[in-house]
Amino acid sequence: MNIQNYINGNFHNPIDNNWIDNYNPSNGEVYGQIPNSSTEDVENAYIAAKSALPGWSQTGLEERSRILIRVSELLEANLQRFAEAESKDNGKPISLAKAIDIPRAASNFRFFGHAITQFASESHESTGQQAINYTLRQPIGVVGCISPWNLPLYLFTWKIAPALAAGNCVVAKPSEVTPMTAYLLGEICNEAGLPKGVLNIVHGLGGSTGQAIIEHPDIKAISFTGGTATGTHIAKVAAPMFKKLSLELGGKNPNIIFADCDYEDMLNTTVRSSFANQGQICLCGSRIFVEATIYDQFKTDFVAKVKQLKVGHPSEADTDIGALVSKSHLDKVKAYIQIAKDENGTILCGGNAVTVNGYENGYYLEPTVIEVPNDDCRVNQEEIFGPVVTLMPFHSEDDVLQMANKVKYGLSATLWTNNLKRTMRLSNQLQSGIVWVNTWMLRDLRTPFGGVKASGVGREGGFEALRFFTEAKNICIKY
Ligand code: NAD
Repeated sequence: MNIQNYINGNFHNPIDNNWIDNYNPSNGEVYGQIPNSSTEDVENAYIAAKSALPGWSQTGLEERSRILIRVSELLEANLQRFAEAESKDNGKPISLAKAIDIPRAASNFRFFGHAITQFASESHESTGQQAINYTLRQPIGVVGCISPWNLPLYLFTWKIAPALAAGNCVVAKPSEVTPMTAYLLGEICNEAGLPKGVLNIVHGLGGSTGQAIIEHPDIKAISFTGGTATGTHIAKVAAPMFKKLSLELGGKNPNIIFADCDYEDMLNTTVRSSFANQGQICLCGSRIFVEATIYDQFKTDFVAKVKQLKVGHPSEADTDIGALVSKSHLDKVKAYIQIAKDENGTILCGGNAVTVNGYENGYYLEPTVIEVPNDDCRVNQEEIFGPVVTLMPFHSEDDVLQMANKVKYGLSATLWTNNLKRTMRLSNQLQSGIVWVNTWMLRDLRTPFGGVKASGVGREGGFEALRFFTEAKNICIKY
């Protein structure tokens, strides 16, 4: 099935007639083509967005809200179709797409549809001056949204929904690896009555289509989620043009387990936080540190549970681990398993490609647990972004804090303990944008979301996203 660009409410082939193959990771076959859009396609998307801007930015909040909530309802009504498309495009179990990806994409539209009606700005009375200042929060204009392949529609809408809610018009690009649900979203937006040109979706490679978006002189803000190297490049291009930037980048998150935790809950959640979505979630706890007194017990119990995970075709109901997203990604993850061996890591389970009957060319890999000799080794420092976790013991709170913070990333951390004082101490000192205590990936859309260090700049989520997608203007009136 071929995908087209969604520009000014209509579907278009790329002007240069330049196409890229779209692969199904579960069987390694090409099942369609997507535009590799040129600068001219991006320009057309921009022109459509610019033309729609005066109307959309002046549309009443209730009307904007109504349309976004309608998009959310239509996504829910099309749950099965979208979940199937997401699973086919990405390789994730359809059960996951149905339970998480598509419902959360719908929640993004619903949440920001409501949030914009509650978004207030400040006023400051300057006492003694007989003056009042108030802040206007105005739409930025035309903004660019660029997203990765791991949670395709979920992260695409995480940006688009607040951008639209705040009154901007959008030129958006999903990952070229997983373009399908973004394509289907165009149809839904038309059905929901989103005016033409308010949202434009262009498909193509990062280096060409993405580059045209970030270089565009009149696309005033870029919200980007993806790898740290790409984020660095985008910052270099966008900063001299004074674009507003939100960068949600890579992670190498610690999962810190103390002996006083609720063991069963921790064990089950740790299996999830390690391998959900084939470990391809920026928030996965890929470095597991376990207090030495329970280390051996944990190792035995964890490995036993991981061995029970079923690697299989994404459409099968009992599949826990589907296919990795692409051949090149599978090769990258396998290369890290070799690096672990070269660095004297011990593969406690997994480590091998899996052949699934009938789908021999799919990109399947066993969930892999590596016991590492020290926290400095490459598999403990570099983002692998696959079904691979490292494991090592710690002896004291200070030790584990130091190891947890000793990576270039700082996206999220998970802490398992029932000691309140320790919780407070460590939560304060862990260098990350999010700390989960006795849980993982429990998301409340009102909370700030983002990372520190090489995990990004800026925060999205809740009113933070609405702040990002608006310009604050101060008006000072003397009376
Ligand atoms: P990526 O950086 O390769 O690509 C992300 C997007 O950027 C894609 O749409 C790609 O086409 C585009 N892109 C690439 N080069 C570009 C350029 N020069 N100009 C403009 N756009 C360009 O990342 P990926 O491999 O798709 O995703 C995996 C990465 O995303 C991992 O590092 C993961 O940690 C990160 N991630 C972060 C978060 C978060 O919230 N912090 C969430 C999910 C994924």
